[in-house]
Amino acid sequence: MSIREQIAFLEELSAIDSDIRRIDEQLDKQRGSLEGMRSELKRLEERLKGDRETLATMEKTRSELVIEFRQMANQIERSREKLQRSRNERESNAAQREIEELRKLHRDREEEIERLNSAAEGARAAIDQAEAKRVELAGAIDGSAPGTQASLAALEAERAQRAEARQQVVSQLPVVLYRRYESIRTRRPVAIARTYDGTCLGCHLSVPPMMFQKMRRQEEFERCPNCNRILYYMPPEPAPGSAPPADPSRA
Ligand SMILES: [Zn+2]
Repeated sequence: MSIREQIAFLEELSAIDSDIRRIDEQLDKQRGSLEGMRSELKRLEERLKGDRETLATMEKTRSELVIEFRQMANQIERSREKLQRSRNERESNAAQREIEELRKLHRDREEEIERLNSAAEGARAAIDQAEAKRVELAGAIDGSAPGTQASLAALEAERAQRAEARQQVVSQLPVVLYRRYESIRTRRPVAIARTYDGTCLGCHLSVPPMMFQKMRRQEEFERCPNCNRILYYMPPEPAPGSAPPADPSRA
């Protein structure tokens, strides 16, 4: 196979690899955005679960306090009756002290209930807010998932098609050249570079003139001494409607 033919295959391979790289980037991006939304939804659901458990505990404590609060009101009532029935000062003082102590406990319960009420109110507002966000996020996932899945499927199909085309081109290339190409590609996304005037179009540095003269015969591939890419001579394509540019090597 002539070197010109090999160049054509190499350029085709490099174009296919650029396509595959672009497709892979899009695939990553699309998978990432859907995954990001799903993990945010999961975090939100976990937080909601915790907040609802806390609220339930608060409500349970509150209803226990309400029961105690009512019982204390009854006890105060009984102590008042005791006070009315007291037959001497000692009994009257004792009943009085009992009433005062009970009143204090009664007030404490009342304050605790009030504190719990406002804490529960805050928790409910936070839950409502998080729930609204959860509904919105779940809707966004449901809305975008079919579109994302469809474009993922399209991208995957396109990638499979490009991979098959790649296989065809690779089978045409000399094995040694392909290995060289692949080994450069582990370090650089594009493994090949043209030159038409002695400047490597991969790294934009000049190659030694002797090397360039040899390359112009298009007998073998060179390796750019600077970027290490597979380097080959390719005459510049004339711009449409203009005269072919002067050969720089004869200028
Ligand atoms: Zn170079």
